[in-house]
Parts: sequence; structure tokens; C-alpha cells
Amino acid sequence: MKKPDEQAIYSSQQSVLFGQTEICYGVNYCDRKTLAIHVYPDGQVIVDAPKNASSQAIAEKVKKRATWIFKQRLQFEAYPPALPQRQYVSGESHRYLGRQYRLQINQGIMEQVKLMHGRLMVETVNPEKTEKVKALLQDWYRLRAKAVFSERYDVCVRQVAKLGIEHQKGFQLRFMSKRWGSCTNQGNIILNPELIAAPKDCIDYVITHELCHLKERNHSQAFYKLLAGVMKDWEEKRKRLNEMVEVRFV
Ligand SMILES: [Zn+2]
Repeated sequence: MKKPDEQAIYSSQQSVLFGQTEICYGVNYCDRKTLAIHVYPDGQVIVDAPKNASSQAIAEKVKKRATWIFKQRLQFEAYPPALPQRQYVSGESHRYLGRQYRLQINQGIMEQVKLMHGRLMVETVNPEKTEKVKALLQDWYRLRAKAVFSERYDVCVRQVAKLGIEHQKGFQLRFMSKRWGSCTNQGNIILNPELIAAPKDCIDYVITHELCHLKERNHSQAFYKLLAGVMKDWEEKRKRLNEMVEVRFV
């Protein structure tokens, strides 16, 4: 079943007074049944509202959530979004397969994560529990890593077969603070799930690199000659991968 399209049908700027403070907010009217309030790292407040919601009802809801809105804004001031440390709140930028996606956390009856309309959408019963949002995202990234790496692993294994390298054992996923991948003495290929932030050809580079270690253990001339035999532009791929090292997504 297709999910209703949540693209805004039309938007407007509104405001409400909370004590002495005026809260300005944008309203996106869309095909949905409930109101959802988002506070973005720049302090902007956006309300997603059903098409027929009255300005009065929206204002009431914003007023009711005012304390939470102020708290969110304070938190953003204390932790500027430029910091790599994740907050797991709407508006935050997360990387997937080389692209940046804005995180959108919605309240719902399901616990799920999906890419929709160019956004990374998290649906959860309690969107204010950032630990839950973090866990949902990590699970999703891990699942996606497993699926995408399996596909790329198969492609890379076929490529290195031309070099006389055989590998059928698959790979293991493991978070590693300083490595994208490794090849153990027993010939096991280990991949860092965080690699899913990188474009597919950079993922191919890491897998191919580790597969080449099955034949040449060290980073010798022979190793790079082997690698270049199936991936001429490996240096460019490594450069792109290194450029995003500091951009951690979880
Ligand atoms: Zn290596």
C-alpha cells in the first residue's frame, strides 16, 4: 500500500504569543491526520498540519508545546549543529551512500525508518526520546549496510576472480573506530557499517582492497599492482573516502 504523500500542499507563516514571547512558525499543510511540530538547528519552528487544520488549533498546539520548543532551541545553541556529535533531532543532516539527508522525526504508531522525499524519516511512538531515535537509526543503518555491502561484495568477488583470488565466505560487520575494513589472517573480511555513509564506488574500493589482501598481506608494490589490475582509479576513490572520514553519521 502506498503511503500518503506528505509533501506540503501549501505553506504559511504564523505566530502565537506565549507569555511575553512571540513564537513564529511556518505551517506546511499536507495530506496527514495529525499535527507535528519540528524545531530545526537554526531555531526555526515548522508545523506539519492536516489540510483542514484551523490556524487557531495550530496556535493552541504550538502554545502547548512552547516549553519543549524553547528547550529544543536552547539545546541547539548549546550544541551547534556543526559539531559532529549527533543529536538525533529533526533537521540534522545524516549521510547515506554519499548523499546528505535531512533527518525528520515524526510521531506515529510504528517504530520505523525510511528514506522518503529525499529525507531520512524516523517514525516513533515517542519522538522526544533521542536514545530511541538513535537506536532505530543505528539498526536501520546496519540493515542497509548488510544489504548494500552484500550486493557490492558479490560484484567485487567477481572482479578479483580475474586476479585468481577466491572468496566465498562473505563478510562480517563490526564498528571500528579507525578502520573501514580489514582482512584477518584467517581470511575473514570485516567491514565497518559506517562505510554505508560513503558512495557505492568507495564501498567497492574498500571491499576490493581487503580482498586483495588475501593474496598480498602487506601494502607492498605488489599489493597496489594487484589492486590496480581490477580498479585503475583506486587512488581517487581512496581520496574521496578519506575526505569524509570526519563526517561520522552515528
Ligand atoms: Zn590494507
